[in-house]
Amino acid sequence: MKILVLNSGSSSLKYKLFLMPEMKVLFSGIVEAIGEEESTIKNHHQAIESTVQKLLAKGIVKSLAEINAVGHRVVHGGVIFDKSVVIDENIIADIKSLIPLAPIHNYANLEGIYAMKHYFPNAPQVAVFDTAFHQSLPKEAYTYALPLELCEKENIRRYGFHGTSHHYVAQQSTKILNKTLSSLNLITIHLGNGTSVCAIKSGKSVDTSMGFTPLEGLVMGTRCGDIDPSIVLYLQNRLDKSVSDIEQMLNYQSGLKGICGSNDMRTIERMALDGDQKASLAIDIFVRSVKKYIGAYIALLGSVDAIIFTGGIGENSASIRAKIVKNMEHLKLVIDPKKNLNHEVCVSKKDTSIQILVIETNEELMIANESYKLLF
Ligand code: AMP
Repeated sequence: MKILVLNSGSSSLKYKLFLMPEMKVLFSGIVEAIGEEESTIKNHHQAIESTVQKLLAKGIVKSLAEINAVGHRVVHGGVIFDKSVVIDENIIADIKSLIPLAPIHNYANLEGIYAMKHYFPNAPQVAVFDTAFHQSLPKEAYTYALPLELCEKENIRRYGFHGTSHHYVAQQSTKILNKTLSSLNLITIHLGNGTSVCAIKSGKSVDTSMGFTPLEGLVMGTRCGDIDPSIVLYLQNRLDKSVSDIEQMLNYQSGLKGICGSNDMRTIERMALDGDQKASLAIDIFVRSVKKYIGAYIALLGSVDAIIFTGGIGENSASIRAKIVKNMEHLKLVIDPKKNLNHEVCVSKKDTSIQILVIETNEELMIANESYKLLF
């Protein structure tokens, strides 16, 4: 059984072909800079065409009929989708109706779905939503303190994102902790170019740092995370900035990049070691924002079995992990420096009551699993 998984971003397309249920990756790759001026690939349809040609040219499949199903990451499922679904015309209409909530992403995801229908008309397609895992948030977690009726009318609420990653690492932790997901309270910390934290109670997401859009919460590579909303109004009124100027600034010129000029944590750590004050400040602000959410979520959950680091930074930077949990002994978080440097799966000191785990995320595998479960 061969399942092709597509992860269409605004200007990129990641793909992985899985042999299921063996969960073996047969082929994977990425098409970048889609639609950018210097790129020969002008849209997602062309990106998929080049992927399909590669699959055939490299002999990964002899004919397209060998692909049994296609799984898609879809960023916004709104309040419509609380789980993965097999795609049909009604589902496409629902995903389309959510475009105003995630214009760039859902549009790109739909492009991927249309292109796949064209190339694989007989292969069923599955949509796995970034927001679905967070549909279990209680009302007090997803409601903003704005006029309630306005929020209800305009669908303004916390949706949360990175759900597939949070859910995946939570599931993986059950094997390490030797417990069922429903018996665990976890804090999952996804630190990549995008960053978010999730409080998971008895296997269900009960709070998460990203909100109405993926802009809220932790400091990110180029996104600002939590700020006083008045700053936006101030910039608009005092400096006569347009809405799209400000949107651009908050999403692409802020976060780590806005503070020190780089959004790549490897570069920033090197710059800090070389004495760059702005890079050190960027790291301090980043670490502090994660620390604050951990404290808040311990308070919310009451008891916590484990915190889990994932994403490019969470999986690979021992020094950022160490800084985040420094001086948290009173919250029962104690890191073992040696295990941490060795990037072991469990990096907490023996006999501490909250385990600190490092688990590699794998959204594509989660999507392949969901597709397999739904279809076969
Ligand atoms: P992701 O979006 O999950 O691919 O993560 C990207 C982020 O992970 C970037 O900020 C990278 O600099 C960071 N990253 C990857 N490897 C390392 C590493 N060895 N040390 C520090 N940061 C890393």
